[in-house]
Amino acid sequence: MNSLCEEGLSPVPGLIHRYPDRVVWVISNSCAVYCRFCMRKRQVGCARPAPSEAAIDAALHYIASSPAVRDVILSGGDPLLMEDDRLADLLERLRRIPHVEIIRIGTRVPVTLPERITPRFCRMVRRFHPLYVNTHFNHPREITPASALACARLADAGIPLGNQTVLLKGVNDDPAVMRELMLGLLRIRVKPYYIHQMDLVRGTCHFRTPVATGIAVMEALRGHVSGLATPYYVIDLAGGEGKVPLLPDYASRDGDLLKLRNYRGEIVEYRDVTNGEVTTPRG
Ligand code: SF4
Repeated sequence: MNSLCEEGLSPVPGLIHRYPDRVVWVISNSCAVYCRFCMRKRQVGCARPAPSEAAIDAALHYIASSPAVRDVILSGGDPLLMEDDRLADLLERLRRIPHVEIIRIGTRVPVTLPERITPRFCRMVRRFHPLYVNTHFNHPREITPASALACARLADAGIPLGNQTVLLKGVNDDPAVMRELMLGLLRIRVKPYYIHQMDLVRGTCHFRTPVATGIAVMEALRGHVSGLATPYYVIDLAGGEGKVPLLPDYASRDGDLLKLRNYRGEIVEYRDVTNGEVTTPRG
């Protein structure tokens, strides 16, 4: 069992049903690289077999029988390590389920194996819109001509691109590095989505940062760069309790008076509405 308790939230092998309206489907056990900090490292690599046909049928049956599920996130491992035809077959079968509104693919391939994002792949995947891709850049040096081209091909296929970054000590725990990464992602049409506090995984404590470091990164982003370049900083709670966003301390309250701190550190007062009544602003 891992710290996020994924197996305990798994109604059928490979599916994780943590939130009411969406499921994560671990559909591949392979990756183009194996990241030291990976929170699924117990499941990826090591010549683990791909999900069986019976497991795939069971997952599709569960999704089809769960009308509340409107969002399916293909994950792994890396789903783009699957061959185009196999992935197309899965996407087709998912698209036959009327209540599945959106499909998301979580993949690090645009970074780690960008040549996998071929024009043929893009022509295939665009048949299954609305389809989103969340990728995983951790450092501005990962934005190369090849990874930028992979993202451009996906964006040109009409796929909205998001990015998840893991906060890693000695890699990107520096506000200047993170700022360069976030702005660089926007330039290649990728919207920064999450900065993750690293999950608790055995053998990774040398990458672990204090939460104050993540807060300092957010403080350096919010207001200093476009809101588009500002992701959520989240902790994925142990035990499968869900993600919680963390922000710098921007507000304090005295009755209906809010004291709000802007990005320059200035305190500005804002009078709130109490019990539906609008009070007259002072001054
Ligand atoms: S690419 Fe993703 S799933 Fe694969 S090892 Fe890295 S973090 Fe884990």
